[in-house]
Amino acid sequence: MRTILVLGGTGEARAIAAALDDGAGGDGVRVISTLAGRIANPRLPVGEVRVGGFGGPDGLAAYLRAHEIGAVVDATHPFAERMSWSAFEACAATDTSLVRLERPPFRRDPAIDWREVASLDEAAALLPQAGRRVFLTTGRQGLAAFAPVADAFFLIRCVEAPDPALLPPDRMVLLDRGPFTLDGEFALIDAHSLDILITKDSGGEMTQAKLAAARERGLPVIVVARPSRPAAETVRTVAEALAWLGEHAHG
Ligand code: NAP
Repeated sequence: MRTILVLGGTGEARAIAAALDDGAGGDGVRVISTLAGRIANPRLPVGEVRVGGFGGPDGLAAYLRAHEIGAVVDATHPFAERMSWSAFEACAATDTSLVRLERPPFRRDPAIDWREVASLDEAAALLPQAGRRVFLTTGRQGLAAFAPVADAFFLIRCVEAPDPALLPPDRMVLLDRGPFTLDGEFALIDAHSLDILITKDSGGEMTQAKLAAARERGLPVIVVARPSRPAAETVRTVAEALAWLGEHAHG
């Protein structure tokens, strides 16, 4: 029996779990998917799921040993920085095979006024000069960076309700999760007269539509660059991760 731990919270992680559940890893494979437990009603992967943090790299290392994990797939979101570093350290400490599945970043579109920043604070500092009607799609975490921006309107789209105390005064919160359609994004931009888009460089198909809509409506886009990553072996697609597991996941 080989046990594979899939650190999840993304569509790619669910796809890996589904493929392995379907026999893609061969017989005798046990898959445990994990979620941070931040979302009240998450999209669950098929199969065995563990919810909640491990208690840092040491806690994860202990878990890897206790459950005789043969390989770890870090398929967390590109901005889940702490979990990725924790996986890197724990796998190194326990000599466990690790692959990082990281989807490619958004493709730079030369037709878009594309401004890359290193942080949400940097993005907030560009307002209101860069735009006064903001489509803010950076997720619930870190919204406090925009709280001091009083002279701009924000349409804040996220999956879970953010703490109102941490939000800018002139805002509307839209609870929704992808995939989003081009027509839907046009409708939001037009209905709220939005004049700028702020996004993380999450990449992936589920949220591409907002960039296409921004291009068509001539909105500049502020893109928060990805955080630093450990030097783990990295693949870009679910198929590549499954191929890697075929070669490495013994234990
Ligand atoms: P983070 O800052 O890297 O993680 C904070 C802590 O949460 C980690 O140290 C770990 O706790 C726990 N954790 C995170 N991901 C986990 C997982 N898959 N399984 C078990 N524990 C996990 O991550 P985050 O940015 O808060 O993201 C949390 C989850 O949401 C991740 O699963 C990620 O894939 C997903 N997500 C994040 C974003 C985003 O923009 N950040 C967007 C979409 C989905 P311990 O140290 O106690 O082990």
